[in-house]
Amino acid sequence: MENGPVSSYFGQHVFSLETMQKYMSASAFQAVLNARKTGGKIDRKMADEIASGMKSWAIERGATHYTHLFQPLTGSTAEKHEAFLSLKDGDPLERFKGSALVQQEPDASSFPNGGLRNTFEARGYSAWDPSSPAVILDGTLLIPSVFVSYTGEALDMKVPNLRSIQALDAAATAVAKLFDGKVTSVSVNLGLEQEYFLVDEALYNARPDLQLCSRTVIGHTSAKDQQLSDHYFGAIPSRVALFMKDFETEAYKLGIPLQTRHNEVAPNQFECAPVFSEITTAIDQNMLLMIVMQKVAEKHHLKVIFHEKPFQGVNGSGKHCNWSLQTDTGVNLLSPGKTPMKNLQFLSFYASVVRAVCKHDALLMASVCSLGNSYRLGGHEAPPAVMSVFSGSTLSRVFDAILRMEDFSEASEVQQSIELVNSIPEIIPDNTDRNRTSPFAFTGNRFEFRATGSSANAAGTTFVLNAAVAESLEEFHRRVSLLVDRGEEMDKAILAVIRDFLSEASPVMFEGNGYSSEWQEEAVRRGLTPVTNVPLAFQAFRKPESIQLFTRTGVLTPNEIEARVEVQEETYVKKLQIEARVIGDICLNHVIPAAVSYQDVLMRSIQGGKEVFGEEFKQLCKADIELYRKIAAYINALAQDSQALVDARKKANRMTDMTSRALCYSTDVLRQMEQVRDSADHLEMLVDDALWPLPKYRELLFF
Ligand code: ADP
Ligand code: MG
Repeated sequence: MENGPVSSYFGQHVFSLETMQKYMSASAFQAVLNARKTGGKIDRKMADEIASGMKSWAIERGATHYTHLFQPLTGSTAEKHEAFLSLKDGDPLERFKGSALVQQEPDASSFPNGGLRNTFEARGYSAWDPSSPAVILDGTLLIPSVFVSYTGEALDMKVPNLRSIQALDAAATAVAKLFDGKVTSVSVNLGLEQEYFLVDEALYNARPDLQLCSRTVIGHTSAKDQQLSDHYFGAIPSRVALFMKDFETEAYKLGIPLQTRHNEVAPNQFECAPVFSEITTAIDQNMLLMIVMQKVAEKHHLKVIFHEKPFQGVNGSGKHCNWSLQTDTGVNLLSPGKTPMKNLQFLSFYASVVRAVCKHDALLMASVCSLGNSYRLGGHEAPPAVMSVFSGSTLSRVFDAILRMEDFSEASEVQQSIELVNSIPEIIPDNTDRNRTSPFAFTGNRFEFRATGSSANAAGTTFVLNAAVAESLEEFHRRVSLLVDRGEEMDKAILAVIRDFLSEASPVMFEGNGYSSEWQEEAVRRGLTPVTNVPLAFQAFRKPESIQLFTRTGVLTPNEIEARVEVQEETYVKKLQIEARVIGDICLNHVIPAAVSYQDVLMRSIQGGKEVFGEEFKQLCKADIELYRKIAAYINALAQDSQALVDARKKANRMTDMTSRALCYSTDVLRQMEQVRDSADHLEMLVDDALWPLPKYRELLFF
């Protein structure tokens, strides 16, 4: 099969709607369809029948186990396998009941919950999400699931995302109906570009920091890394190409439509992207893809690193979210159309998105914040740490004209604006009109949010974006209705609200270089909020306007918001605590011993010089003596700074308030870690290569 065309095995491990029909009765199939469409309940008898169909299909394909696959607040995925095998009067048989399909109770107390389960109910459970198909991976049936507390609070990334999709559907459908009465629903499309690094497994295993933190906490930059830009889009190394082909084959079997693959900017950095799809599918498939890539890498003795900044000094990795809205009549609402009315519709949605992004700029940036991403954001090569939207020159011209239009008594200005609206070309911007320095860029028929971290669950970003846009579209509809009720013509009313929204969004609209220092200052003058500190950025979730956004759209309750912020702060602290311990251990167990061994060599050389050459040794061993002194100074600094790091950590740990503790980690502890690293990296340059116990950047980063 695998030797045939991809289409011959694409999706063979997916329990798709088509397959489902073959394995269950029409009424059971209908129950699944209803559940997908309206979230309708599936009764016990139906659930048994669906489970039985799923089991037969899975067993035929060699599956022995099943598990709910859910997306807890850790940001990754969780699974607990159960065997189909059971015994009936001592006889073996495969069993899978409806109740096991619908609900599972992992011993969930060890997943982060931000106090939700403590306050409400001790247990959480995972529940089948019929909107996403089950798949088989390595002999296990994976059932996509949500993870909630017994009182229904969201304990995962998926639930708020599903709720945000509903809110956005309702709000977008109402606005789309202003243009076309036939629209009955709007869905969100998402295309996720996944960047990653590959490292040889043996070298990886020789780096405790990569093993425990997924990033190097020390390491001097390689003399050559990405400065020649010779890796980006270069020929894919054959070892990597074999790996790519293998994981793509597995992904195809799971129905993941991977389309592009290429080298990225940094050495040993790569990217893949599927054809975009409906948002829930896109996110579930991305989470699955990350699992598959790691599994396949093992066979190639490679390690996939999804961390946002595994290597200091070279580019980090992101997960670009290509996001758009589509009606059930097949219209992409972010694609400029051929007719004036279509363009007005496009502008309505465009203006609503940019207004949402402006209104919630800090919250959107907070949604991508994590310890890992904090090492990447705002760096020269990554998206800037402050929000802005790039629209391209064609659209900017149209916006200017609309904004110039003073009021409706000035008929000529209205006319001029309408003429410009009419002249928006169908495909904008062209490829020359791309701005890679913008965190939120319009790329012709979609927005591309580039700040999400490569290891993140994209739902953490999209539920915020969806909610913010839903709120904006609701407001758009409200204002248009108000004007029409007052007797305004529909298209003029729409244009007036577009103008208001563009004007409200103007602070975030920026066409220039997002990396420049002028823009950083300008952004602050415009009232935008740059991320200067991650725990501080998290506080955007606690702002009244954020709480109002999430509660009004039904995406999160105040309790759920608070729980999430607590989990984010705690995760930040724990991860940084691990990094701080690891850097301390590496310095004491690897760096200092290696440096002392080399001092020993130098000392023997100096002593030998003295014995053989007498006083002349001072001249002859000058370099050795200087080197010895330099190394001694760095060793002493390192020992002192490592102790100071332990003290900083202890001081932070004494703080009982989690926000204060996270802030202390993000300042004192982080600063002390940089101090330690500086000495260690200097020593790496001074000590004999043969004595250096850790693989260096030039070894890790090049195949
Ligand atoms: P680039 O690197 O130029 O940004 P890629 O081809 O790597 O482009 O990735 C673009 C991603 O955007 C793909 O996943 C693609 O399917 C997706 N995409 C294209 N059109 C849309 C759309 N209308 N809505 C959402 N995603 C889209
Ligand atoms: Mg892109």
